[in-house]
Amino acid sequence: MIGKKKEAKKMKGAKNKKGAARRTSPVDAAVRDAVDFLLPTYKRSPLVFTHGRGAVVFDAQGKKYLDFLGGIAVNALGHAHPRIVKVIRREAARAIHLSNLFHNLYQGPLARKLAGWSGLDRVFFANSGTEAIDGALKLARLVGGVRGKTRILAMENSFHGRTFGALSVTHTEKYRAPFAPLVPGVEFVRFNDVADLEAKFDATVCCVLIETVQGEGGIYPASEQFWNRARSLATQHGALLIADEIQCGLGRTGRYFAYQNFSSLPDIAVVAKPLAAGLPLGAILTSQKVADAVSPGLHGTTFGGGPLACATALEFLRTVEDSRLLENIRARGAQLRAGLEALARKLPFIREVRGEGLMLGIELTVEGGPFVAAALERGLLINCTHDTTLRLLPPYTVSAAQVREFLRTFEVVLTKTPRVGNPSESAAIADSARALHAAAR
Ligand code: PLP
Repeated sequence: MIGKKKEAKKMKGAKNKKGAARRTSPVDAAVRDAVDFLLPTYKRSPLVFTHGRGAVVFDAQGKKYLDFLGGIAVNALGHAHPRIVKVIRREAARAIHLSNLFHNLYQGPLARKLAGWSGLDRVFFANSGTEAIDGALKLARLVGGVRGKTRILAMENSFHGRTFGALSVTHTEKYRAPFAPLVPGVEFVRFNDVADLEAKFDATVCCVLIETVQGEGGIYPASEQFWNRARSLATQHGALLIADEIQCGLGRTGRYFAYQNFSSLPDIAVVAKPLAAGLPLGAILTSQKVADAVSPGLHGTTFGGGPLACATALEFLRTVEDSRLLENIRARGAQLRAGLEALARKLPFIREVRGEGLMLGIELTVEGGPFVAAALERGLLINCTHDTTLRLLPPYTVSAAQVREFLRTFEVVLTKTPRVGNPSESAAIADSARALHAAAR
């Protein structure tokens, strides 16, 4: 433990060294502190956003942006939704946290609603996507381990998070390599490649983990044939089918869950991002068969399922229902997609538009980064994944006028921005994923 005197000396030293921050504006000071004191895990834009309203967000200079990134699929109701603000105000003044040693008013009702939406039976609340994935993998080992089933099949081109378990099932080498050795027993299958899945599946597999729509990988939906085969192989071998719906679930594709596109259920579905409308909350949803293997003490968390987060999540789910947002997602998604496809017909460097609902990827033959920067200049917030795929994740509440405004400005961004060649490694990955995607259709 650091002594009080030593700490005061350290603080003084820090102020002397970085004291300039105290003479600048609060915004500049905040950025300087971030640069000086945060671990440099992100390559951040110098922009500071301060607040938002619906699908619009403002920076510290008061400039307005149309937010088609939505906190990377978190802000599904946009910013400062009145129902969410009201619940957070109310509950913050009642109880932010209560221990999981007791019941609270919202965890059970939220679990009931998630069970209703998903077709699954039981819920465990975690605090983030990666933590929920780790919990789901633990459940698969718990159910399978007693019968000697420990192998985990994950997908090439996948992303599941940054904790050790989730990282072990994430395919991207640059995320994995610095932290090896990872959790053992993981094998990767080519996404949407039924033959590869069949070749790697046997009685030693405890689970197969699929992002129903690969998000970070560039918006690639699992094909129906691949899903069905994963389901039947899992059933045949007594393994679990786990759907990672952290990015694509809870309405994003125009269905409550993206797997509802298919006719069978997973054994486990994992959700997070939009669940508590911006507060950190993840959940593992399981079948009763999985739940039967669980007993008190096997898994737990301090924060997961707290009353503030659960009350907010319940309000989010009710708002999606009451405001008929699935309909809006489908209608605005179709409008956005049609506009993007029209642009693709005009601009040959757009290779493909993929995705469903309000989860869309625009695959380019050139680098996406410069378009993201140019979009920002013109007041559009988007991002780029896998170097060449521009990703759009607008809020479920986005209006037809906002989609039109986006398309108008986006066309200018695409046509006026100088194009930079395709980075080879990501192009190769994208090519292979695209070939499988095309073959699956
Ligand atoms: N799974 C998917 C499909 C994701 O998109 C993400 C995050 O981007 C995660 C898991 C990890 O979630 P979190 O960042 O909340 O840990």
